[in-house]
Amino acid sequence: MNILHKRRKTDQPPALDNEQEVDRYQRAWRSYIARRNLVVVLFLSFIFVGFATAKLKMGEGVDFAILLGWIGVYLLGAWWLTEWRCPRCGKVFGHRLWTERCISCDLSKNEIANVARGKS
Ligand SMILES: [Zn+2]
Repeated sequence: MNILHKRRKTDQPPALDNEQEVDRYQRAWRSYIARRNLVVVLFLSFIFVGFATAKLKMGEGVDFAILLGWIGVYLLGAWWLTEWRCPRCGKVFGHRLWTERCISCDLSKNEIANVARGKS
């Protein structure tokens, strides 16, 4: 994404005295929360979409198209979440949706959250 992410920071604790570093963690964490919330909202919206299509009775073809479209949007959101980058090593955090630790440098989401909240 930018030059900062290319620095190798593997196996180092977050440098809390480094403002740039803390800022990077905070931005990464906010970005993660936004992505995660989007996926949760999209998932919940499926119930709404299901009710709406059932109620409107637009025909099977239209229902199917809406369902396919919704699945497409959901997959896009899920893909965006998995594209989230680890703030320490700059690589993709995990290929699964709800992974707890970075697959490259083993940094946990808890650690990122703690840095973002200003705790060590
Ligand atoms: Zn990492």
